[in-house]
Amino acid sequence: MKKVAFKTLGCRLNQFETDSLVTQFHNAGYEVVEFGKKADVSIINTCTVTNSSDQKSRNYINQASGLSPDGITVVSGCMANHKKEILEKQENITYVVENEQKNDIFNLVDSHFKGELVHPGNLKADVFGFETVEKSLHTRTSIKIQDGCDNFCSFCIIPRVRGRAISRPAADIVDNVKRVIDNGFKEIVLTGVNISRYEYEGLSFKNIVEKIVEVEGDFRVRISSIEPDNFTPDFPDLFHHPKLNPHLHLCLQSGSDNILMKMRRMYSVNSFMGIVESFRKVHPDFNFTTDIIVGFPGETEEDFQQTLNIASRAKFSHIHTFRYSLRNGTRAARMENQIPGKVKTERSEKLRILSEQLEKEYFNSMLQKSQRVLIENPDKNGSAFGYGEHYIPIQIETAGLAKNEFYQVSLKEIKNNRVIGII
Ligand code: SF4
Repeated sequence: MKKVAFKTLGCRLNQFETDSLVTQFHNAGYEVVEFGKKADVSIINTCTVTNSSDQKSRNYINQASGLSPDGITVVSGCMANHKKEILEKQENITYVVENEQKNDIFNLVDSHFKGELVHPGNLKADVFGFETVEKSLHTRTSIKIQDGCDNFCSFCIIPRVRGRAISRPAADIVDNVKRVIDNGFKEIVLTGVNISRYEYEGLSFKNIVEKIVEVEGDFRVRISSIEPDNFTPDFPDLFHHPKLNPHLHLCLQSGSDNILMKMRRMYSVNSFMGIVESFRKVHPDFNFTTDIIVGFPGETEEDFQQTLNIASRAKFSHIHTFRYSLRNGTRAARMENQIPGKVKTERSEKLRILSEQLEKEYFNSMLQKSQRVLIENPDKNGSAFGYGEHYIPIQIETAGLAKNEFYQVSLKEIKNNRVIGII
């Protein structure tokens, strides 16, 4: 039995694609081993969003080929699209497979072991051609509904490595949901590159979510990272549906209109806050988390202060802070007034401290309330961990709880950045 190891970097979309490949190799009789163990095949699904994601990808490539010199190393993901020529020259890499052909990696590897060498460029190009996930490395599973992006924000390399926006046929998505529910998953995460731009035969993002929550079964739906540039006023109503988790990771990026314009973001601070307030009016406990870039070219101290103010006003329960990372080939890379690294570090530290404070405030506001927790890790010490529908990390100090089961808990206190829940 051949051994295969996977390493995934970056976003949920990459995670979905890896989980699908894991299922395919597993069903074909391969043993899926932990990355870092010796393997006949190592597949690294890379990310290239920032310089550090490139560096991490390189490290895992070298680790895999170093550990299994007789094995084959397959590099795919966004760095494969972004740095193809460089990667193809590397001797410790057997195959470089771009995102479009990633769905067909099993065919490439299987042919290799049968002695039929296939050029990656001749693999099937289908960004939606992935098998249904049966075996995942996680409790919740992702469903890919969209790929690519037409927004071309000035700092972002993704449209160049994931291509133009494309939406998956609605019937395929609903069928995929039915199959993963049949496979026992209890939470699905809708993912893509710019999912609020979903559009298929007149169906909008709201419409496809409505179709998904209509699927029978005891499961719930989480929406992954979403851009605030295609919301409709009736969107908050959708979240009255019991299957839809009242949490959105809504990407702000900056709290300054001056910087949002330079980023070519398609909303203003006011329209962003309008979305947040429209949700909170209908769902007072609604949980927003976000991404913010600090140190974007030209960002003044005043711009940054506006970002801190808006983050406080929006009451995010968590802020993913990114120090601006210059990506060659993007508009922002050619901008003047690049911010010194020291200033980026100071600003990201301030934002991290604010994020911790806001997280505590949100968790405190949810104490004495009830959450439905999906157990991810029951441990041997008689406690279990999982997330509630509001995406709150909850520790339950009760023995014998089962993995991948729902439990209704009451939130009691906060301990070590986790909320303690009791049944
Ligand atoms: S919306 Fe902007 S940041 Fe998001 S993927 Fe598209 S170009 Fe990148």
